[in-house]
Amino acid sequence: MPPLTIETPLGALPAFKKSILAKLEKRDFHTVGDLLRHLPRSYEDYSVIRPVAELSVGELATVEGKVVRLSAGRTYRKQVFLTEATVSDGTGEIRAVWFGNRFIAQTLSEGARIRLSGRVAEDGKGLLFQTPDYERASRAATHTARLIPVYPEVGGVSSRFFRWQITELFTKLKTIPDPIPEDILTRLHLPTFQVALRYVHLPKNDDEWMLARKRFAFDEMFLFQLKALQAKALYDTSSAIRILDAHDSTGQFLGSLPFKPTDAQARAIQDIITDLAGPRPMNRLLNGDVGSGKTLVAASAARAVALAGYQAAILAPTEVLARQHWESLSKLFADEPFTIALLTREYRYLGRDEASKVALGKAIEAGIPKIIVGTHAILQEGIRFHDLALVVVDEQHRFGVEQRAELQTRASGLDDGESERIPHFLTMTATPIPRTLALAFFGDLSLSVLDEMPAGRRPIETKIARNNADRELVYGFVRSEAAKGHQTFVILPLVEESEALEDVKSATAEVERLRADVFPDLRVGLVHGRMKAKEKEEEMRKFRDRETDVLVATAVVEVGVDIPNATVMIIENADRFGLAQLHQFRGRIGRSEKKSFCFLFPGDGAAENARLETLEKSASGFEIAEADLALRGPGAFFGTRQSGLPDIAMENLTNLRLVEIARAEAGDLLVSDPSLERHSLLRDELRRFEEKIHLE
Ligand code: ADP
Ligand code: MG
Repeated sequence: MPPLTIETPLGALPAFKKSILAKLEKRDFHTVGDLLRHLPRSYEDYSVIRPVAELSVGELATVEGKVVRLSAGRTYRKQVFLTEATVSDGTGEIRAVWFGNRFIAQTLSEGARIRLSGRVAEDGKGLLFQTPDYERASRAATHTARLIPVYPEVGGVSSRFFRWQITELFTKLKTIPDPIPEDILTRLHLPTFQVALRYVHLPKNDDEWMLARKRFAFDEMFLFQLKALQAKALYDTSSAIRILDAHDSTGQFLGSLPFKPTDAQARAIQDIITDLAGPRPMNRLLNGDVGSGKTLVAASAARAVALAGYQAAILAPTEVLARQHWESLSKLFADEPFTIALLTREYRYLGRDEASKVALGKAIEAGIPKIIVGTHAILQEGIRFHDLALVVVDEQHRFGVEQRAELQTRASGLDDGESERIPHFLTMTATPIPRTLALAFFGDLSLSVLDEMPAGRRPIETKIARNNADRELVYGFVRSEAAKGHQTFVILPLVEESEALEDVKSATAEVERLRADVFPDLRVGLVHGRMKAKEKEEEMRKFRDRETDVLVATAVVEVGVDIPNATVMIIENADRFGLAQLHQFRGRIGRSEKKSFCFLFPGDGAAENARLETLEKSASGFEIAEADLALRGPGAFFGTRQSGLPDIAMENLTNLRLVEIARAEAGDLLVSDPSLERHSLLRDELRRFEEKIHLE
């Protein structure tokens, strides 16, 4: 047999029978390397062998002794195959029982010395281990008597199997090459790949596996940053349409507004106008709190492009939002000499006129509308632009690098007649993103932060309703606000993205309850995710025109609607939402000088909730995002699957140093070897990493 390497196919190893191979291959385990990259989920500490006499019920323990009785067979009543061994170590006896596994009885025999590791339990007959790990005492400790790695099961292949095979591999593998350059490891005091693998799979103590995990976390963050920086480099070598001399005109426009832009807005706009004039495409993230006025920033950029005679596309995540953007831009730019179009699945407008899909498509291709507002659907429908110079994507924090790259590629592929050039790109987040995450996920972008609220805003008062009496008070308050002509949102937590019919039913039921029992004197409307965009818009219009007092809305419709007259928000089952999302909802109110109030109704038994209390205490989206990150981790913030980052790196994302170091090292390496020609192992590793991210 040729020497074992990490490239060796698993099929070449004797223990990998066809059935196991099939299960593993289905889950993309093909080589020894794949097996070694399957890291333990946790460890159980069985390292000390304990006398039976000293065991107490409930503890995890290892004992070593002689099998004094052994029985195996079907139980009388339930017909389950049961193996029972009684082990004595001289200080006492403990029984071990296993169910359903015929193999165990064949490997044990009376008189044999064995080790058992597991949780100590007790029944009428005395102490016992249920399905403990076991092995002969003459063998080296693999399953017992050490820090035992616990592996995630994979398609029915057990932790025990992984443990056994991986331990075995270490006796045979000679050297494992390291994809990360040695000087980086030395500088960062990280173990080599080989050592890290040993530390993570066969740790002698906690320090070893912790150091190993540090190394793997670095690897993943490093690869991620390499990928981001390579993408950026590609971008940095392409050319863009230059929008020149827009500073003065933009300044005049800002000066003509009924309000004064915040300093943060002014800075962001300045940055963007400067970028637009550059020879390279802008690639910028606008990171701002709810209500910080991101729309004005996007609008100013689009205006500069339109006045220069080019086109700008503004993409919103929902039809309702797209329509709202179109309406506010049409108002804002009523006196400007360019046309604004709206293009979604349901709405097609050229200026103020409805247009057929074909006519609108032709007009866009002819370069007639300069600003095209729409949903992401624009990108899917193969619209041809005349000369697209800017793409703005609103409320995009849910998208990871991968999706963003795809959007960008698609946008740049949009035919504008001079296809060599890539449009400038502005991404706006719905929720402020903590610095660590922004750097890690959007490290390839320039960053503008709106950390300042428009003047005259009064902070929203937020309260948790802890009982029924509170609920009654809140309903009374809604009525008194309605008497002043103010309006209320009631948010229901329904399934995201695709609302189930049941959810719609429960929303309808809630509306009926409110109409009949709670607010018979008020007008209560409903929007939910299953409605057509036009129906939604009609409900929103009624609310905006104050034809309804209370609007019950499901989570789906939430983001971005702007109704300054709404001063109260009730969020039902608030504990089911993430903090960032709650803050986002809350941002729908407090959009004028009127004092606004947000009431959180937790589900039964969820009143004591650290997250909700954070919201009661803080009004700053950045603070809340940091708290969310600390409480729940970045996976909850972004959704692990959407983030494109593997779990282990996600775990470490609260560690700003790690992100910064990985980024700096990746940057340095790419300077000396841009296409990783001299680091072929690393290049292969990067390719593997990209595939893995792509699969997820
Ligand atoms: P978001 O950042 O959440 O998208 P918007 O752009 O929707 O916020 O702005 C929220 C509201 O604040 C809008 O009604 C907008 O017209 C208003 N606004 C924006 N900038 C200012 C400002 N500098 N001063 C006063 N009001 C502003
Ligand atoms: Mg917005």
